[in-house]
Amino acid sequence: MSGIDIREFTKKAQSQFEENEKFFKWLKSKKPKDLDHQVRTFHEEVFENIDCLDCANCCKTTSPSFYHKDIERIAKAMKIKPSQFIDSYLKLDQDDEVYMLKQEPCPFLSGDNTCMHYPARPLACKEYPHTDRKRFHQLISISLHNTLICPAVFEITNKLKKHYI
Ligand code: SF4
Ligand code: SF4
Repeated sequence: MSGIDIREFTKKAQSQFEENEKFFKWLKSKKPKDLDHQVRTFHEEVFENIDCLDCANCCKTTSPSFYHKDIERIAKAMKIKPSQFIDSYLKLDQDDEVYMLKQEPCPFLSGDNTCMHYPARPLACKEYPHTDRKRFHQLISISLHNTLICPAVFEITNKLKKHYI
């Protein structure tokens, strides 16, 4: 899939949200034994056809969580103090527990969709969209939300529906 049409994707994802919500509820209650294997297989299939540099919708529309180690690493890469980094770019989330970006799109996203601090990026960015991680059943709520953000998660979800239903 080259040149992802994000507007078109968002429309489709919103119209299928209820159906996906029901499916994920079902998946959570059933916890199929082969779930991690299937998600990983579909992750690999889908990312063969999706280039994140054609998309960057995650970096444009959501904030990763920034934990202490992330802040230290990225501040070091920028040659500034962690406190300066926090003051300039971050705010605490609603529960005052985790730092998030003050605003999206991420200020470190370049015009060509590359990340200016790719080697030092937060762990949450490295792991996104979490579809190649183990214990997918624990990531179901976040994955449902990600069907609205990430075209790959949307496709993987469609493949899971076809496989299980
Ligand atoms: S730090 Fe980099 S990878 Fe993470 S949201 Fe910002 S631009 Fe994207
Ligand atoms: S992870 Fe998903 S939302 Fe982010 S750039 Fe790749 S396809 Fe797009």
